[in-house]
Amino acid sequence: MPARILDGVAIRDQIKAECGPRVERFSARAKRPPGLAVVLVGNDAASQVYVRSKTKTADELGIYNETITPSAEISTEDLQRLIRSLNRRPEIDAILVQMPLPAQIDAQAVLLAVAPEKDVDGFHPCNVGMLSTGRPGLRPCTPAGVIEMLKRYEIPLAGQHAVVVGRSDIVGKPMAMLLLHENATVTVCHSRTRDLAGVCRTADILVAAIGRAAMITADYIKPGAVVVDVGMNSVTNRAEAEKIFSSDRLAAFDKRGSLLVGDVNPGDMARVASAYTPVPGGVGPLTIAMLMRNTIEAAERRSGVG
Ligand code: NAP
Repeated sequence: MPARILDGVAIRDQIKAECGPRVERFSARAKRPPGLAVVLVGNDAASQVYVRSKTKTADELGIYNETITPSAEISTEDLQRLIRSLNRRPEIDAILVQMPLPAQIDAQAVLLAVAPEKDVDGFHPCNVGMLSTGRPGLRPCTPAGVIEMLKRYEIPLAGQHAVVVGRSDIVGKPMAMLLLHENATVTVCHSRTRDLAGVCRTADILVAAIGRAAMITADYIKPGAVVVDVGMNSVTNRAEAEKIFSSDRLAAFDKRGSLLVGDVNPGDMARVASAYTPVPGGVGPLTIAMLMRNTIEAAERRSGVG
C-alpha cells in the first residue's frame, strides 16, 4: 500500500477556515479585532519573508496586526522596554518576537519580557510550565500544529511509542510534552543518543526536528511507522542533491540552484512509512495557522470573550 501523505496545506486551510468565524465573533463582542504585534529586529531577509507571510495571513483573517522594526543595533534593555510597552496596550493580545535576534541581544531576557498571556509563541517559562503541568496556556505553534495534524488524520497516539529526534525549546521538548499529554510513550533523542537508528526503529511515530538535511534514512524507520518531518533545510550542493532527490526533482534543483528538504530522506520515507508529512507541504504550512489560532485564543482569554 502506498504511504498516506499527511497534507499540511489542507489542514492549514481547515484551521484558517475555523479561525474566520472566531475572529468575527470576537470582534462583534469585544468591539475590536484580535491584535497581533510582531517585533522584527534588523534586516534579515529570511525573517522579513516569514513576517510578511504571518501578517498577510492575519490580514486575510481580519486580525489587527502591526510590525515594529527596531534597528539591528538595538540593545537588550531597549528591546525589553519596547515589549513592555506592547504588554501595556489593551488592543494588543499577542506579541511575537521574530527569531533569530542579532548577536548582541540576550534572546532569553527578551522572551522573558513578553507578558505570558500575550506570548503567542508559547516560549515564556510560564507557558512552558503550563504545558508541562497540562494546564491551559499558549502552546508553541509548530509542535501544536503537528498534534493538530495527527489528530485530524485520526492517527492513534495513545499507547503508541513516539520518538522525537531533537530537544530544542521551540520544537523537540514541547513536541515530546504534547505527545505525552496524548498518552503516547515518548522517547526524546539528541546528538548524544547512542544507536540513534536503533532507537528510531522502535518508533510507531517518528518526529524528526534536527536541522540536518535528509539525515534520517530507511534504516531509522520501522516499516509502517508514521513519520513527521519538521526539518526545513536548503540543499545547494549538487552532489548532495544527487544523493537525496530522484531525477525529476534534480531537474528542479538545476533550475533553481537549491531545493528544500526535511530531516528525513524523502524517498525512503515514502517507501517505508505508512504515513508521512512531505517537505514542503507538511508541517511548514501549519505553523502560521496555529499562530493565528493562538492569537485568537489569547484575545478570547484576555477579554473573557469567546
Ligand atoms: P535546533 O535548535 O538546532 O535543535 C536541533 C536538535 O537536533 C538538537 O536537540 C540537537 O541535539 C539535535 N541534533 C542535531 N544533530 C543531531 C544528530 N546528528 N543526531 C541526533 N540529534 C541531533 O533546531 P530546531 O529549532 O528545533 O529546528 C529543527 C528543524 O526544524 C530545523 O530544520 C528547523 O528549520 C525546522 N523547523 C521547522 C519549523 C516549521 O515550521 N516547519 C519550525 C521550527 C523549526 P543537541 O541538543 O544534543 O544539540
